[in-house]
Order: sequence, then C-alpha cells, then structure tokens
Amino acid sequence: MTPSVLSRLARVAALGAVLIAVSPPRSGEARPAAVNQVERDGTVVTITVPIDLHLSEGQRFRVPGQGTTDGAGLASWWESGAEAIWNSGLSPYLFRGCYTLRVDVEINVVAQDPFSGDPDHHQVYLQQSGYRSQVWRGGGADKNQDDPNPYSNNALGRWGTIGPTTVAHEVGHLLGLADDYTDVRDSSGKTVGVQSLPGRDGTFMDNYRRGTPSTWFDQELVDRLGEMAGIVEPLPPCFQGTVHIVQEDDLGGHTRRAILDVALAVDPNDAGELQGLATGTFDLEGRVTQGGCEFSYSTSVGVSLELSAAGEGDGPYTVTAKAPQRVEETQRHALCDTPVDLTIEWEIGLTIEDVFFDDGRYEFTDESTDIVLFYSGR
Ligand SMILES: [Zn+2]
Repeated sequence: MTPSVLSRLARVAALGAVLIAVSPPRSGEARPAAVNQVERDGTVVTITVPIDLHLSEGQRFRVPGQGTTDGAGLASWWESGAEAIWNSGLSPYLFRGCYTLRVDVEINVVAQDPFSGDPDHHQVYLQQSGYRSQVWRGGGADKNQDDPNPYSNNALGRWGTIGPTTVAHEVGHLLGLADDYTDVRDSSGKTVGVQSLPGRDGTFMDNYRRGTPSTWFDQELVDRLGEMAGIVEPLPPCFQGTVHIVQEDDLGGHTRRAILDVALAVDPNDAGELQGLATGTFDLEGRVTQGGCEFSYSTSVGVSLELSAAGEGDGPYTVTAKAPQRVEETQRHALCDTPVDLTIEWEIGLTIEDVFFDDGRYEFTDESTDIVLFYSGR
C-alpha cells in the first residue's frame, strides 16, 4: 500500500509565565584583593581567608576526639570546623539568584612574634582561655557596619582557646561582616550585655548561642557576604529560574506543556553574553481527525537547550537557544479501523526577548517551537 502522506505544520508562539530572579550588575571598579581572595568559577564564588595563627613553640592543645595535639592539630580543627559551618550554612542560599558562595579558611601556624606572619594574611594571636575573642578589621569599620577592608588589608585577631563555632563567627568578621548585635553598656561605659539588632536575633553574626544552626544563616547574611565578595570580584548578571509553557494550539490541535529549569551561568569574559542550560520535559498532546475518524496522541521529550543571553547592563537581553533540539518519533495509531503511523517531528527552540535584569523578573515577546506531524495510512 502506498502511504498517503498528510502533513501539517504548526508554528505558533507559545505563551507562558516566566519566573526568574535576577539582580543588576554592580557598577564601579573592582578593588584589588591582597588578602582575602575571591574566585569565580561559573556560578560558584569561593572566598579564601588566609590566617596566620601565632603560637608559642611547643604549645599543646586539647582537641575533642584527638586528645592533646600541637598547633597544627588546633589549626586543622579550627579550619575544618569553620569551613563546615560556613559552607553548610551558605549552601541552601543563592546570591543574586544564581551564585553559590563558598568559604575556604586557610590557617597557618607561625611563631608567636609580630614579625613572623605574612602581610597578605590575617594575623591571629592566641589568648588565654576566657578571653573574649575579637577581630579588628581596620579601615575604621563600625562594629555594626560590613566593610570590605579585610579583602585588601590584613586584620588582627585575638582569639581565646575557643571552639570551631566561635572561630567561624570570627572568620565572619575576616569576611568583612559586622556583628549583628550591639553591646549594652552601663552608665560607666562597662559592657553589661548584648542586644541583637532588629530581625537578627539568633543569626550567626549575632550571639549565635541564642540561635541554632538552622537560624544562623539566612538570605540577608548571604546577600551581605556576596556584596563583600562582589567588591573585589565583579559578579556579572546571571539568572536561574523556571520557564513554564502551557499552550493550546487550535491550528495543529496540540496542547503542549513544559516546565524548563533555566540555569544561566555567566560569561567568563564579561562580554555581555550569558550562557547556560534550560533542562526539563516538554509534553505534547493532540488529536487527529479525518473522515469522521480520530485518534489522540501524546508524547514527552526530555529537553536540554543550550541558551545564550545577549545584552548590556540591566537589559534588555534576548535569550535564545543556540541550536533547537530536534526530535522525531513514530507512533502507531488507528483512524477508525485503519492503522496509521504518526510521525512527530519537533524542533524545540526558545527565544525570549526583552529580558530585564533590574527588577527580578523578565517579560518576553516570543517563544517558538515548531512541530510537524506526518501520518501515513496503511
Ligand atoms: Zn563578633
């Protein structure tokens, strides 16, 4: 039997709702980082905090699980403990909707004298037990004002024989973060207590003992840290979000649905082109009617589109799929009692115009997906 080929071409604009979170690029020149290093690899931003820990030769320390250890044992306990607190605290949050922040603490043991440290490292001196650990960030930093000075100039710390949680709080100051509490003083100026700043009760830069690991970190703290990092390493616009497409298409008799997760990274060359992937599932349903007979079809395709966004500053950007994804599938159906083979050819593309980065969402004027149906009777 000679197949009779009927074809339909549907080229329509899909309508959908788009939800993304974006932020404007920072303006201004980056500062050189001499002490804390900030490195961006795609959307992962790592802040390295180098610390010289001044200890007397032969000093021994009690470290839980390790008994008595030397300075290197203390340093590695502090380093791994502080990193674990920061990185587990930061990991649920994104800065500007796409950047993951990481903290790398490097503690080197040096001799207990002011001349033995590296000027490009923070200098921390160990005090007797019971000493209230402090960091002087320099640059005239207000106790309650974040300040990027520790990225370009070394800070001085005097820490007691403390545990990793307190070390991690002090590392927060070396990251440029201010305390989220103020000291309460009596009439003679003596500190008699502390008062959390509004809304910061139990956060990590507050008196963290008033909170728990689940209250220590929040979006505000992550945003403040990202602002510090962004001063020394420009963090270009980026976004990640979800594209919802729901489209009923009278012309082709299709209903298509897709939920695509868009994770646009950043252009490593800052040339105004963001790049990334949209991945998800594209579902298609439809109905074919001929000569009083009809059949329904449906299919589902995993989609992975490489996207680029071209634009400048706050936008508009145009987001396009670099190459449409082509899919071909043949299904057996029946028109009344006559078997037919239905071939579905998809060209799944994505074009979103007028993407603005200034208000956390974007509008678009066009998305297109081509669907071609062939069905052949037998
Ligand atoms: Zn503090």
